[in-house]
Order: sequence, then C-alpha cells, then structure tokens
Amino acid sequence: MSSWKDQLQSLTGYTSSTDASSQTKTTARGVYATDAGTLCPDCQTPLAACQCQQLAQAQRLAACDGTVRLSYETKGRKGKGVTCIRDLPLEDAALKTLCSRLKKVCGTGGSLHADGHIELQGDKRTSIEQWLQTHYPWPIQRVGG
Ligand SMILES: [Zn+2]
Repeated sequence: MSSWKDQLQSLTGYTSSTDASSQTKTTARGVYATDAGTLCPDCQTPLAACQCQQLAQAQRLAACDGTVRLSYETKGRKGKGVTCIRDLPLEDAALKTLCSRLKKVCGTGGSLHADGHIELQGDKRTSIEQWLQTHYPWPIQRVGG
C-alpha cells in the first residue's frame, strides 16, 4: 500500500531535505507537528526542515577557490600552537570524516569548527600536507608563520 518513503515520513515527520520538490507537500500535510520540538534559533523552523546549515555550507563552498590553506597559529593560545586547515572544498559530512582521519594520521587532538576549518594540535603542517597531497587533488598553500 504505502511505500517505504511514506512510512519513513510518518515515522520521522519530515521529508528528506535533499528532495526539495516535496517540501511544499510536507508542509501542507502538517507532518511537522510530530517533530516540532526543537526550532532553529536562526530561522525558527523545526530543525528537521531548517535550511540554514545547507545555506551556510553552500556559501562556504562558494567561497572556496580550490586551494587549501595550511597555517600554524600560536596567537592567543599560550604557546600551544595549532595547525589550521582552511578552504577545504568538502561538504560538512566529508569535513567531519576528514577531521577524524587527520587526527589519526597526526596522532593528535583536533576539531572541526563551525566555519568549516579544521584545527589540529601542534605543528602538523608537514604530515597534513603530505597526507592531503596523496589523497586529494587540491593545491596546498602555506600561509602565515
Ligand atoms: Zn535555520
């Protein structure tokens, strides 16, 4: 009778955000009501339907020129430097994966920041550069100190 998609929709209360054409239908059926607990602070839309993250991602990707920038920064960190990787032309999910892979590669701690840059503890520029060059086609530019 009903497809798996309909069943999933009634379970989760929203349509896959990648299927933009079905969004108006979803609203008309009012299925948001089952999953409206948390609203996005920016657009007041239920988080399941919020587009803010996709918009931020699109803007970030549009700003990337294809060159990845690598820097070592100690400013305001009490001498404990971090290696920053900026302008990575990857979607959010892929950035998360890349961040955890780089942490393993470098054997150090690190984090992915909201603006899309990755920070790894210590001066890991050489190992990051070598690893990225063997796995991705992007030119890498060292910036700053
Ligand atoms: Zn939002």
